[in-house]
Amino acid sequence: MTAKWIATPKRTKEILETHGFSFKKSLGQNFIIDANILYNIIQKTGIDNRAGAIEIGPGIGALTEQLAVHANNVIAYEIDQRLLSILKETLAPYNNIQIIHQDILEANVSEMAKAHFKPGQPIHVVANLPYYITTPILMKLLREDLPVMRFTVMIQKEVAERMAAAPNNKRYGSLSIAVQYYTQAEIVMNVPKSAFMPPPNVDSSVLKLTRRERPPVQVIDEDFFFDIVQACFAQRRKTLRNNLIGYFKPSDNHTISDGLKQAGIDEKRRGESLNMEEFAALANTFYRIIENDM
Ligand code: SAM
Repeated sequence: MTAKWIATPKRTKEILETHGFSFKKSLGQNFIIDANILYNIIQKTGIDNRAGAIEIGPGIGALTEQLAVHANNVIAYEIDQRLLSILKETLAPYNNIQIIHQDILEANVSEMAKAHFKPGQPIHVVANLPYYITTPILMKLLREDLPVMRFTVMIQKEVAERMAAAPNNKRYGSLSIAVQYYTQAEIVMNVPKSAFMPPPNVDSSVLKLTRRERPPVQVIDEDFFFDIVQACFAQRRKTLRNNLIGYFKPSDNHTISDGLKQAGIDEKRRGESLNMEEFAALANTFYRIIENDM
């Protein structure tokens, strides 16, 4: 049965050779050649035949094909012009796929979603992301208010661990907070290098991000909250106080002391020990102090 799928070493080689396609490392082109792994990924998404799927980087269509079989319709963004004619051929048996030739970072995904998905349709992002821009892509899609219920993405293992990390874990940092502010993050699978052509230099994991209905904490100003979180992790080994001195002016010494005290947080702690509630309390306290000073 799997012989018909694009995601086999034999079929992938044939497609690439027929079209004289050479991989562009600069575009993060590592294509999946294992249909069982794709099947497992689809199972993890929870997609059913009502779902709309958005894919970033269809390559020669290995994952796109599986999405076409399991979802209602698929929209896929591909930046590499050379892949368009290949996709036209490999995905010819499916009539529920639309390829958009565009850099995802430039795309107006919200307008696209309005045009291609029905109101109330469950929308999923599913992708084997180009690893060189994983974080910008996910942060763009998370910060835009898109009607996406879940992201199931293959990314570099280390980045997946950073995004899903809990306090006091060595991978916990501002990226963990940024991702977990919008979603519940869970690593659902590790994928061997041998599942790709060519094999990547790094290990890979599948990360499942389920969008929260609302953030788990209330912050007065989101940008300021993320600035404070980033400042607290500026140098991991430094205490909160010392990192915050780098963010505020030296003359704001009293603001730092007052803020930490009012938020009930010991100034000798390090960023990695604070949970999201504590970061929110700290940012909101600083925000009020600064507002009152003006
Ligand atoms: N989905 C295919 C698979 O799993 O076999 C290919 C995945 S490959 C890791 C990443 C794909 O993203 C490539 O097809 C690449 O050309 C495309 N890509 C890279 N940068 C992109 C961007 N900024 N916007 C859209 N697609 C991009």
